[in-house]
Amino acid sequence: MDLKQYVTTVENWPKEGISFKDITTIMDNGPAYKYATDQIVEYAKEVGAEIIVGPEARGFIIGCPVAYALEIGFAPVRKPGKLPREVISANYGLEYGQDTLTMHNDAVKPGQKVLICDDLLATGGTVDATIRLIEKLGGQVVGCAFLIELTELKGREKIGNYPVKTLITY
Ligand code: 5GP
Repeated sequence: MDLKQYVTTVENWPKEGISFKDITTIMDNGPAYKYATDQIVEYAKEVGAEIIVGPEARGFIIGCPVAYALEIGFAPVRKPGKLPREVISANYGLEYGQDTLTMHNDAVKPGQKVLICDDLLATGGTVDATIRLIEKLGGQVVGCAFLIELTELKGREKIGNYPVKTLITY
């Protein structure tokens, strides 16, 4: 299946100059959403994932059905103030300033094999911070899977040696 045909590009959103890739038109098409999920499920099997970690909010949309299909757990990565128990934090750079991501401090167990799932790899800042959170807890990142990769932004370089799987590239 050519998944790219289900992505909608929205020009100048959320601000002037941004060409936003809208994945809701994959999600609202049952066969396309299932096909995309199945591809990542296969990858998760290949890398031996024991738990899925996904950053809010679109990482939940990608990661949760993968975890369900494999009958493994899902651990959310969230913005500060959203998780109810003790968290660990990691900062990452934005175009202007910084942002923080958090995770419950027992969400991943030492030595556990983790697959990170998100909708889109751009500069790699989000996944880089997510990797740091998982490693702080002693988890082993065995892969990072995305529906979409914006290759010009060189997110793969930022991630370095971690295996990356993407289904659609621009
Ligand atoms: P990065 O941290 O790699 O620069 O940006 C990736 C993060 O920003 C992902 O969590 C993703 O959800 C969000 N993001 C950035 N640009 C887009 C876009 O064009 N479309 C979608 N769907 N998400 C985006």
